[in-house]
Amino acid sequence: MKPFRYERAADVDSAVSTVATEPNAAFLAGGTNLVDHMRLGIATPDLLVDVRQLTSDRIEELPDGSVRIGAGVTNNDLAAHPLIRRRYPMLSEAVLSGASGQLRNVATVGGNLLQRTRCVYFQDLTTPCNKRAPGTGCSAREGYQRDMAILGASPSCIATHPSDMAVAMVALDAVVRTLSPRGARVIPVGELHRLPGDEPERDTVLEHGELITSVDLPPLSVAVRSRYRKVRDRASYAFALVSVAAALDIVDDVIHDVRIALGGVAHKPWRARIAEAALRGTRPAHDAFRDAADAELAHARPLPGNAFKVPLARNLIVRTLLDLLDTAEEARP
Ligand SMILES: Cc1cc2nc3c(=O)[nH]c(=O)nc-3n(C[C@H](O)[C@H](O)[C@H](O)COP(=O)(O)OP(=O)(O)OC[C@H]3O[C@@H](n4cnc5c(N)ncnc54)[C@H](O)[C@@H]3O)c2cc1C
Ligand code: SF4
Repeated sequence: MKPFRYERAADVDSAVSTVATEPNAAFLAGGTNLVDHMRLGIATPDLLVDVRQLTSDRIEELPDGSVRIGAGVTNNDLAAHPLIRRRYPMLSEAVLSGASGQLRNVATVGGNLLQRTRCVYFQDLTTPCNKRAPGTGCSAREGYQRDMAILGASPSCIATHPSDMAVAMVALDAVVRTLSPRGARVIPVGELHRLPGDEPERDTVLEHGELITSVDLPPLSVAVRSRYRKVRDRASYAFALVSVAAALDIVDDVIHDVRIALGGVAHKPWRARIAEAALRGTRPAHDAFRDAADAELAHARPLPGNAFKVPLARNLIVRTLLDLLDTAEEARP
C-alpha cells in the first residue's frame, strides 16, 4: 500500500479547505469503501482527512416537517430511527438490505452515497477500465455483463451504481447539502450521480473537496406506504441485480401519487418518471402497472449477458406496486 498522511480537521471548514487545496486528498468517513480501494490500489490518496466525527450524526425533524440526516449518521442508525421507519419505510428497508450489520454500524450516509461501482474490472488493476484509468477501454462491454447497466449507459462505461440507500432517496426527492470553498449548495439526490457519457471517471457532480454535510427528506405523505425490494444472487451480503423503491397513494380508487426508482440498472439510481407519469390519475391494476413498467423499460438497451434484467425490472415494479395496493386495500375502513 502506498504511504499516506492522516489528519483530523478541527471543523468542517478546515476539512473542506484542506482537501480542496490538495489535489490528491480525500475525505474519510467509515472507510468501508475507500480503504478497500486503497488496499486494491484503485485509490492512492496522499492525504486522508477524517470527517467521521465532524459531520453531524443526528437525525432531526425540521419546523417544515422535513427530516435532516447528518452525513455522519451510520447506516444502521438511519435504518432504525423511528421517524424513518414510520414516515419513509422504503429508506429503512433499502439500508437494511445492504452490506452486513457490522458494516452498517460503521458506514455513513455520506460515504454510502459516494461509494463507487462494484464492476469487477474497475476493481481489477490488471484490466482496462475507462472509469479507473480514462482512455484505456471498457473490459465489461465484451466481458462479464451480468451486473451491468441496461439504461443510460455509454460506449465508455456500462457500470451500475451500487448504493441501495441512494435509490430510496431518489424516489423520495431527497436533497444533499454540501460545503465547498465556493460555499454551501443543495443538490437533489437525483442529480447528484451522473450518467457515464464520455467521462465515466466522474461518478457525481461534486467538485474535489466538496463535503456532503447532510441529506434532507421532504415531508411526503405518499412515502408512508412505500417499499424497497431487491433481487440479488445471494439472500444477503450482495449488491442488487435489480431493485425497486416504490410508494403508492390511492384516493377514491385513483392513483393520487406514485414514486418508482430502480437500482442495479444504470450508472445512477434511476427514477422511473415515465412509469410514474403513466400511472398518476389512473385506476390501480395489474395491467396498468405492467404497461407503465414496459413504457419505462422501452428505453432499455441490454446486452446479451444482462438481458434478463428487463423482465426482472418489469416484474419487480409490478410485484412491488401490487403489494402496496394490497396494503392500501387492507387499510380501508
Ligand atoms: C462486503 C460489502 C458489502 C456491501 N454491500 C452493500 C449493499 O448491498 N448495498 C449498499 O448500498 N452498499 C453495500 N456496501 C457498501 C457500503 O454500504 C459502503 O462501503 C458504505 O456505505 C460507505 O460508507 P463509508 O462511510 O464507509 O464511506 P468511506 O469508505 O469512508 O467513503 C466512501 C467515499 O465517500 C467519500 N466521502 C465519505 N463521506 C463523505 C462526505 N461526507 N462528503 C464527501 N465525500 C465523502 C470518501 O472520500 C470516499 O470517496 C457493501 C460494502 C462491503 C464492504
Ligand atoms: S463498465 Fe465502467 S467501470 Fe466497468 S470496466 Fe467498463 S469502464 Fe470500467
